[in-house]
Parts: sequence; C-alpha cells; structure tokens
Amino acid sequence: MIAHSDSERALKSQRMVLELLQSDMPEPDYTLKNELDRWSKFVDLGKPRFQSRTEPPADLSHPAIAVNLAACIQCTRCVRACRDVQNNDVIGYAYRGARALPVFDLDDPMGDSSCVACGECVQACPTGTLMPSNGMGLIKPDKQVEPVCLYCGVGCLLTYHIKDNKILHVEGRDGPSNHNRLCVKGRYGYDYVHHKGRLTKPLIRRDDAPKDKVGIDAVDPNDPYTLFREATGEEALDKAAGGLRKIRDQHGSSALAGFGCAKGSNEEAYLFQKLVRVGFGTNNVDHCTRLCHSTSVAALMEMIGSGAVSNQVEDVANSEVMIVISANPTENHPVAATFIKNAAHTPGKTLIVMDPKGNPLVRHGHYYLQFKADSDIAVLNAMMQTIIEEGLTDNEFIATRTTGFDELKEHLKDYMPEKIAPICGIPAETIREVARMYAKAKASIIFWGMGISQHVHGTDSARGDLAVSHLGPDRPPRHGPASAARPEQRARGLGFRPDPDVLPRLRKC
Ligand code: SF4
Ligand code: SF4
Repeated sequence: MIAHSDSERALKSQRMVLELLQSDMPEPDYTLKNELDRWSKFVDLGKPRFQSRTEPPADLSHPAIAVNLAACIQCTRCVRACRDVQNNDVIGYAYRGARALPVFDLDDPMGDSSCVACGECVQACPTGTLMPSNGMGLIKPDKQVEPVCLYCGVGCLLTYHIKDNKILHVEGRDGPSNHNRLCVKGRYGYDYVHHKGRLTKPLIRRDDAPKDKVGIDAVDPNDPYTLFREATGEEALDKAAGGLRKIRDQHGSSALAGFGCAKGSNEEAYLFQKLVRVGFGTNNVDHCTRLCHSTSVAALMEMIGSGAVSNQVEDVANSEVMIVISANPTENHPVAATFIKNAAHTPGKTLIVMDPKGNPLVRHGHYYLQFKADSDIAVLNAMMQTIIEEGLTDNEFIATRTTGFDELKEHLKDYMPEKIAPICGIPAETIREVARMYAKAKASIIFWGMGISQHVHGTDSARGDLAVSHLGPDRPPRHGPASAARPEQRARGLGFRPDPDVLPRLRKC
C-alpha cells in the first residue's frame, strides 16, 4: 500500500483535525512548548471556526503535577507513558465519545490517586495538560544544566531548567541507563539544592573556636559562625591541601586515607582515587560500594575474578528468564525497575521474584517464591541440585571454565528440593520448575539486592546466586584457557573464571 500524506484530501483532513482540536484549547497557555500550536502554525491555521466545549475544571490536588484537562487533546501519550513505559498503571482512558478523557485510578483527583509522581506523563504530554505545578513550565529558563541524578546508582541523566540560579523543573535526558525516564527522586527531589541550611560559601574553623566537648556542646547549632568563619574558595582549598600535605610530609603517606561516596559519578570516583594515590601517595582508598556490597564483591571476586557486575539492567531485554532475589528495585532503583517490568510484560519472557517479604515487583512476576526468611541459600542450593540432577548443566562450560564442580555436586546431594521444601516453605515442584526454566532458557539473568548482601551470610548467598548462574542456560561459544583461574580461587573450591564474552548474566542492585 502507498499512503500519500500530502495529497490535497490528506492535507485538508490534517487541517480539520487541528482546527477541531484548537477550538477546544483554552485561552491560557500551560506550556512554552505546545506541540499542537507548533503544528497549527506549520499548516498556517488561523482562528478556529468552531465553538469550544465546556472546559473541565483544573485538578491541582497533586503537590508536584498540575492537571489542566481543558488543554487535553486525548492523544493518550500520558496513558502509554504511565502504563507501557513506567508500568505504574495509574492513568487510564475513561468514558466514551466526547466525554473521553484520561483519568487517574477510578477518576480520582491526581493527589488522591496511586500516582508515584515519576512525571513520565508530564514529559510526554504535548499540550501542557500535565505540567510541573505552580506554573514552573511557563517560566522561560535562562539556562540548562545537564547533570547525573545523585540519588541512586542507576545513574539517570537529567536536564535542570534554571532561571536566576533556581531550578524551575527537571526533564529526563537520553542516557544509557534511563533513556529519558526518571523517578520521583530525580524529577522532583531538587528542592534541597535551595535549602537555606546548605552551605553556599566555604567555612574555615575559627582560631578561637572551642576544641573541647563542653565548649562545642555550648555552641548554638543553628549558628555555624560561632565555630567557623567565611573564607574564599582559594583560601579553603589552600588550607585543606596544606593540612593534608603537612600530615603526609610529617607522618608519611600511610597516615592518610580516602573513602569515596556512592553519590559521586564515575568520573568523580576516578579523580578521587587519583588524588589519594598520586597526591597522598597511598593506596589507602576505598569506596562505599565495598561496604554495603562487600559480600557481593567478595563472592564476585572469588567466583568470576572481578568485583564488578557483568551486565546493564537493560539486558533484561535480551533475557528469557529473569530472577530478582531479595531486592526491591521498584522502590530503591525505580528507573531500573521499569526496564525489568517492561521485560516481564514482553511475551515469551518470565520474571521470577524471590523474596521473603514481598515487594511491588511481585505483581509483575510470573512466579513469586516467598521463601522463609534466612532460607535463601537452601533454595538456591535446591535449584542447583535440580539443574545438576536433571542433567541441565552446560558440561562443556563446566569442564573448561570451572573448578571444584565435583565437590559442589557432592555437596548438593543433601539439597533435594523435596528435603528443602519444608525448610524454605516453597513446594519442591515449584523449585524444580523454576530451576528447569532458568537452566533451559536461551539467556537468563539474576539480580540480587541488599536482602542478599546485607546478611549475616551474605557472601554465601551471593555465591549461591553466582553458582546458579554458572549452571544455567546454554551459552554462546567461549574462549580462554581453563587454567585462567587463580590458584587461590581453585583452592577455595568454586573457582569459576571470568569470560569477557559470556560473563554470566548477573547483577546486584
Ligand atoms: S498526554 Fe496530555 S494531551 Fe495527551 S491525553 Fe494525556 S493529558 Fe491529554
Ligand atoms: S532511578 Fe530515580 S533516583 Fe535513581 S538515578 Fe534514576 S532518577 Fe535518580
């Protein structure tokens, strides 16, 4: 079929549709970027000839989002953004004919609905029907700044729209981990930037400031100037660098150390370790990832030879089976969770959520294994036992790339699902079903979270996740000598070696 979009009839229809839509547009603008106005101008449309409908009232019940349905053109982009992109299922399309309009839950005020304020609908709306509250979208920014969101490790890219050095509103940018999506924290959690309690000038401790506890306790906590005085940036930097240099020169490099923060970007982390290694002259540098995920790092180092995760979250798009165990990405890493949810709703893919207490991802899962608290290792071992017993292992991979498999096999003999079922509370047949599914899939991925790593036996639990992933599905051809395992890895029994081409599909979150 050949469709002519610029025939006389097509152009007439386009103008008519635009004119009908324009006739319902309210007088005030709600956005500076009205797509309807742009296209009307493009076809040189004048004042519409038709009478306007009765305008629905504004819904200003939400603290962050203003809803002016008077400007709605029923394009349903907001419905798609809410349901298909973010999988929040709050916005629906209700009523019929001329009354049709987007609604929140059961046509509730937005502020009373189950909206999680991700703002995806605001970003999608072409007419300003959904906009940042308080008319922020109508103020012309004088500049844009493009940072990385500081709240969690997903690393979403943002654009701050700024006027007079105040953030007006935020939009998502197309970054590798967010593809324009944001969550409530990245999109609306910026007011702290302008909080009156923030330091806006460098402060240096006053020479006459008390140094003992009694003196410090007596100081007014709301008045920093009793302890500090204002300084210029140069003076503060000189003072800090001078102090560090003095310690290094007097006591040696090992008297200094640096501990990096997860809120820093990769580039900042790189610069920080450079400062410590080159400036301080010591390798005493660490990062908080190795604190909260120290167990994961230990297991990863031991079993694949690298402490880093092997995959992007969005690799769920390439997986048939996804296991999320003891992690709550919907609340902790909301944008990453949207990609998991998208995959879970893709035909042919299976999401298995394993968690003793449940989380919002469960409603998107095909399986929910609510094992009893503290029985995660037993469940993972029972899954491994099933995979080995039923001959679902990738024997060539095991023979050429792992050590200690026979010991593992022997150890797992005690972990028949039928024996583990009463311990973990999951029926044996379900454990077997899930293990088979994971092992037979063309590609599988495991995500684990703090429920695994911040546990008294977190390293063992992470080892279990890693071991299941190694026994899993058929892999593409592998390369590299089997002897690549380090001796200390082999000595510890389960020395799986890293393979850059086929690193197991794992992620801790
Ligand atoms: S995206 Fe905006 S204009 Fe389109 S249906 Fe939703 S509210 Fe209406
Ligand atoms: S998921 Fe939310 S908090 Fe995390 S980086 Fe993205 S916008 Fe920020």
